[in-house]
Amino acid sequence: MASKPAAPQPIRKAWKFCPRCGVTVGRKGHNPFCCEACQFTQYFAPVTAVGAIATDPEGRVLLVVRAKDPGKGLYGLPGGFVDVGETLEAALTREVLEEVQLEVTSYRYLVSYPNEYNFRGFVLPVTDMFFVIEVKSFDSISLLDGEIDAWHFCNPKKKDLQRMAFESNRKALEFFLSQRRKQPSPR
Ligand SMILES: [Zn+2]
Repeated sequence: MASKPAAPQPIRKAWKFCPRCGVTVGRKGHNPFCCEACQFTQYFAPVTAVGAIATDPEGRVLLVVRAKDPGKGLYGLPGGFVDVGETLEAALTREVLEEVQLEVTSYRYLVSYPNEYNFRGFVLPVTDMFFVIEVKSFDSISLLDGEIDAWHFCNPKKKDLQRMAFESNRKALEFFLSQRRKQPSPR
């Protein structure tokens, strides 16, 4: 008999024992986790992720279609998690190259929003940092790593924004579009 999958839970609530001494946690789900027996302490601080907003010469935004959950089939922005010891800038350049084979030539920090990432039922807190990027050429665009199903250039409308996998990505895109509307036309 198939059991119903458990409801997603914050990662801090998954800790039942101290990983150092094995003692049962006294204050389950507390942040930081602090073992009453040996004082081992773990903060469940957000992990960092980067997202890229790229526009083609017509000003259309590059969206990607996610190949995997969370958000399979929905829109996202190219990007991903920052590795340990890596700068935001290096993560941005690496992720854009890995996901859509585009070479980042310049970037400008835009905005950040908190996010959550549900990994196999355990929810990690995330800080998403968004950058507006320029790329060497869109001619090289292609998909390599299996995390993306397709790409799509558009002037995002309400229906596109509603199809974003993550609210943080949608908010960043809305912020970008609102800033762009305020700028004087180049012509
Ligand atoms: Zn302990």
